[in-house]
Amino acid sequence: MAELLELAGVSAGYGRIEALSGISLNVPEGGIVALLGANGAGKSTTLNVISGIVPASAGEVRFRGQSITRLRSDQVVARGISQVPEGREVFRDMSVEENLVIGAQLRSDRAGIARDIAVMTGYFPILATRFRQMAGTLSGGEQQMLLIARALMARPSLLLLDEPSLGLAPLLVKQIFDIVVALHREQNLTLLIVEQNAAVALAVSQYAYILENGEIVAEGASATLAKDDAIRRAYLGA
Ligand code: ATP
Repeated sequence: MAELLELAGVSAGYGRIEALSGISLNVPEGGIVALLGANGAGKSTTLNVISGIVPASAGEVRFRGQSITRLRSDQVVARGISQVPEGREVFRDMSVEENLVIGAQLRSDRAGIARDIAVMTGYFPILATRFRQMAGTLSGGEQQMLLIARALMARPSLLLLDEPSLGLAPLLVKQIFDIVVALHREQNLTLLIVEQNAAVALAVSQYAYILENGEIVAEGASATLAKDDAIRRAYLGA
């Protein structure tokens, strides 16, 4: 499979704190890749570097073979990468519908936008039920669904998901991941998923990287990592 996204020797930090120390990782077109690690390992920083939110201090980020290392975040979105940030940051005083429309702000094809809203409410039926409700009144799980749907309104080919399971009950986590996998399969969506919930992330991904203190310390096929004793002890509580 051709690589859609490549990180080569990427470093980044905040002032004197180095959060990423020369990490390299690939996401093949049509794949699901997981990035796992404990609190503070550098997972969100990795996604923020890809999205152009945090600048890389070294290395290169390539998308479809072209460098996007120095693009602004709106330019990264325009290339086809959308990020669902950690935590729930819906526009609370806007309706579900308005949140979805904002997700399409870089597009001008009104008919296409209306069609995609229908597609999204098809995948997330609860959003259709709550269509005119203020987003701030949605439950945590519903807000997570809205965030994913909003990011997809930009019609990305790569979706970056930052801890979609955070703070959600296991049943909701399963529901959300089932929808994400369906989107991957049916909408040709490539995914890079950051998770602390390693069991869930390894179950849905084909390949995974493990980040510790800003460095990739292990990588491999997800099925292999899920069986690895050291990985199980460190990340799966087994
Ligand atoms: P978590 O799962 O807790 O979100 P993470 O693996 O996503 O963790 P990052 O958020 O990328 O980790 O953080 C990596 C390191 O960078 C941490 O040491 C963190 O304290 C530091 N860091 C992150 N954001 C900032 C910031 N805005 N200013 C200063 N330091 C930061």
